[in-house]
Amino acid sequence: MSELILENVIVEYPNFKLDLSFKAEAGEFVSVIGPSGSGKSTILSVISGLTPIKEGKITLGGRDITHEKIQKRHVGIVFQDYALFENMNVSKNIAYALKFHKMKRKEKKETKDLLLSLVGLEGFDKRKISTLSGGQCQRVALARALATSPEVLLLDEPLSALDANLRRHLKDEIRKIHDKAEGMTTIYVTHDIEEALSISDRIVIIKDGKVEMSARPEEIYQHPATQFTASFSGDGTFLPASLFSDNENYDTIFFRPESVHMTESPFHGDFKMHLCLDNCSVLSTEYRGSRYLVNLDFRGHLVKAETTDIPNKKIVSVYIRKPLISFFKDEKLIN
Ligand code: ADP
Repeated sequence: MSELILENVIVEYPNFKLDLSFKAEAGEFVSVIGPSGSGKSTILSVISGLTPIKEGKITLGGRDITHEKIQKRHVGIVFQDYALFENMNVSKNIAYALKFHKMKRKEKKETKDLLLSLVGLEGFDKRKISTLSGGQCQRVALARALATSPEVLLLDEPLSALDANLRRHLKDEIRKIHDKAEGMTTIYVTHDIEEALSISDRIVIIKDGKVEMSARPEEIYQHPATQFTASFSGDGTFLPASLFSDNENYDTIFFRPESVHMTESPFHGDFKMHLCLDNCSVLSTEYRGSRYLVNLDFRGHLVKAETTDIPNKKIVSVYIRKPLISFFKDEKLIN
C-alpha cells in the first residue's frame, strides 16, 4: 500500500514553471486534468524519474524517491503513443519490463500469461506489435507497465488515440485492473472531464503548473472551488451578480444546466429559495439523447438549461434553487 506525496515540487522550463504539492492515498485512482500545456505530463515525468526536479520532495509509501533511479522507483508508465517495440512480438515487449527482475523462465512465462489474461489478450504472445490494433497495443503497454507490480501506475492519456467506443470500454477495464491490483495507486492524465468524473476516486485540476482544486469528482462538479474548475468540469452558466443585486459579497454566480427549471408561464414559487430569470429568449436546442440542452438569452447573457421537452414558446422563465448556485468573488468560491 503506497501513498504518493509530492511536496512543493518545482520544475522550471524557459516558458513554464511547475510548482505544486499533492497527495494520492494508497490504492487511490487519481485523475489529473487540465488544459493542454498546463503541466500534466510533466507531473508524471517527475514521479517516474524521467524529469529531475529543481526543488521539493517526492515520497512513495514513506520512501523518499526524489533522487531515486527510475528502475528503483516501483513505478509503471503507459504513454498515449504506446512506446512499444514494433518489430518485437507481444511476449518480448512484456519480457523487456522484467529484464531487471531475476526470475526463472517458468515464473516469467507465468507472469506474462497472467498479465495477458488481465488485459484480455490471452494467446497473443507471438503476435507482432505491427499487426495489432490501437486498442490491442494499449493493452500490451498496460501489461508491460504492470509486469513489475508497480506501487504506482502512471497513465498519460492512454486512450486519446482510440475511437469513442473503444475508449469507453477500455476506460472501464483500466479501472477494473486498478481494483484488482490491490493497493496500487494510479495517476491518470486525461483532458476528458467526463472520463475523469466517471473513473476517479479523486480529481486534481491543474492550471498553469499549479493545483487549482483536488477533490472527489462529486465535489469538483457540484462545489467547484474556483471559476476555472467550474468551467473546466462541465457545462454551466456564469452570470454577473450585478444583474440581481448590489451585494458585494460575490461578483459572479454559476449553476449547472440540470439545476435549471424552465416554465412557460411566469414563476410563482418561493423567491427566497429560488433565483428566477424572467423573459429568457430561446436561442437554440441541442438534443443530448436523454435530454435537451436549451440555450437561452437572459439580458445579453447565455443561460444553459437541461429539459426533457423542447420548449413550445420563444420566451420562457427559468428558476434555480439557491443551494445549487455557486457564488464567486474574484474567481474563488465564497461560503
Ligand atoms: P500537458 O501535459 O498538460 O499538455 P506538459 O507537461 O507536456 O503539459 O507541458 C507543460 C509545459 O512545459 C508546456 O509549455 C511545454 O512546452 C513545457 N515543456 C515540457 N517539457 C519541456 C522540456 N523538456 N523543455 C522545455 N519545455 C518543456
